[in-house]
Amino acid sequence: MAAIDATDVSKRYRTEVALDQLDLTVEEGETFGFLGPNGAGKSTFINVLLDFVKPTEGSVGIFGYDCQKDGVAARNRIGVLPEGYSVFDRLTGRQHIEYAIRSKNADDAPLDILDRVGIREDAHRKASEYSKGMAQRLVLGMALVGEPDLLLLDEPSTGLDPNGAAEMRQILREENERGATIFFSSHILEQVEAVCDRVGILQNGKLVAVDTIEGLRDALGGGTKLAITVDQLREGTISEIKTIDGVETAVAHDDTSLEVTCSNEAKMDIIVGLRDAGIDVVNFRTEEASLEDMFIKYTDVGQR
Ligand code: ADP
Repeated sequence: MAAIDATDVSKRYRTEVALDQLDLTVEEGETFGFLGPNGAGKSTFINVLLDFVKPTEGSVGIFGYDCQKDGVAARNRIGVLPEGYSVFDRLTGRQHIEYAIRSKNADDAPLDILDRVGIREDAHRKASEYSKGMAQRLVLGMALVGEPDLLLLDEPSTGLDPNGAAEMRQILREENERGATIFFSSHILEQVEAVCDRVGILQNGKLVAVDTIEGLRDALGGGTKLAITVDQLREGTISEIKTIDGVETAVAHDDTSLEVTCSNEAKMDIIVGLRDAGIDVVNFRTEEASLEDMFIKYTDVGQR
């Protein structure tokens, strides 16, 4: 059964279209990364799943429960780290976890959960004394209570330092191994690349791509990135490169270095084209397209 099944979901706020006929199925057991620039509609979609926001059209199910009509049953299966979460200043870390255990009717050991998220030592301290990263870990701990079938995480690594982000990824892997489906939004691409089976790229409320990272690379025509060093770039060189068949993007870093994403076949044409234009190619190397390159390609936020 699908963990998340969205059919034709639209959400409009007056003139603003936050979600535009979105169709998406996330299978049980997947780790799915939901990517998109700010304002793309990621939080709106997560809020529809949680029934905080009603879609203007369409419907969303979680494990077969309609999120709007059967919201309570759907939410019983979810652990959530919401956007803009808040903690209760006067409660300790441990009390937060105990509260989550009571409200989910679960039987986890509070200190074990706090240990997993790395704040066991601070269990007795009031949440008002927690740093942003500690509060983030605490809310993640609350989401883990009761072994949810689906973890919904809105920008989970905001506020975490690199170690914290690595620990978060480790927890997501463990939860996935336990059998949980994981759905998280992020604009931090390495996070997504490191843990996700599939990603969806959202822009202006529309899913512009849904695929494995490999699949997205293939769709970019091999997705090769060329880093080229030359003696001296001329005015117009970048525009000329962009006209070569198979070239996706071309960006100059300075007077002597440029980066081009292109199909495999286009590589030699670019080098030959530069030489024909009298530009000395000092060095060039090929890199596989990163998720960031794909993101720029699909969302068109890069220089083109
Ligand atoms: P993301 O999470 O990808 O940054 P959001 O889902 O927060 O994007 O926002 C999607 C779009 O919907 C944005 O243009 C935003 O301004 C708009 N939007 C979100 N919430 C509201 C609201 N309550 N009222 C009006 N517009 C909203």
